[in-house]
This record gives sequence, C-alpha cells and structure tokens, in this order.
Amino acid sequence: MIAGYLEHALQFERMASEETDPALKESLSKQARAYHKLAEERAERLHLSHPPKSRTVGQAPSCPHCGQPMTLIQTIPHPHYKNLSEEVFECEACGEKYERAVRHS
Ligand SMILES: [Zn+2]
Repeated sequence: MIAGYLEHALQFERMASEETDPALKESLSKQARAYHKLAEERAERLHLSHPPKSRTVGQAPSCPHCGQPMTLIQTIPHPHYKNLSEEVFECEACGEKYERAVRHS
C-alpha cells in the first residue's frame, strides 16, 4: 500500500521532470507531492496502530545481565526517525549498558 503510493509519486515526479508545459509540469508535481503525503500518512497510521509493547516510556528496563533496574543516563535524538529518541540506560550494579528507542511527542 505504502509502496504503491510511493511508486505513484515517483511516476508523477518522472513525468513532471520530462514535461515542458509549465502548467502541466506544476500539476504533475502537485500529484507527486500528494502521493508522498498519502504514503507518509499511511505509514504514520500503521506505526500508531502498532505501538511496541516492550517500550513503555518512563519505565526503566531491568538489566539484561543482572536483573537490577537500570538508570537513564542519556537521551539522544534518533538518527533516522525525528519522532523517536534513543535512551541510554546503565546498570549501577554491574555497569551493563542498554539502549532503546522511544517515541516522543
Ligand atoms: Zn546489571
């Protein structure tokens, strides 16, 4: 579904790039942008309807090594998704580090 929208968007972009009539070119570009938007909205909805169960915001994970609750030591922006952050946890008991991605608003 998303792939279909993106394919349409690319098709319209290609047609727009080859079109010499400015009015038609603009119209084709608009179509391409509309399909891009649809693909984005669709992706967003899919993402919203499948929240990751194990990643509860505000709840510290247990250390995978010794089972102690871990301490949040750092939050950094996710390199690929602008609505996600990477949280870095550290176990005070054994020094084990653990990273997870969390959604922020
Ligand atoms: Zn530990």
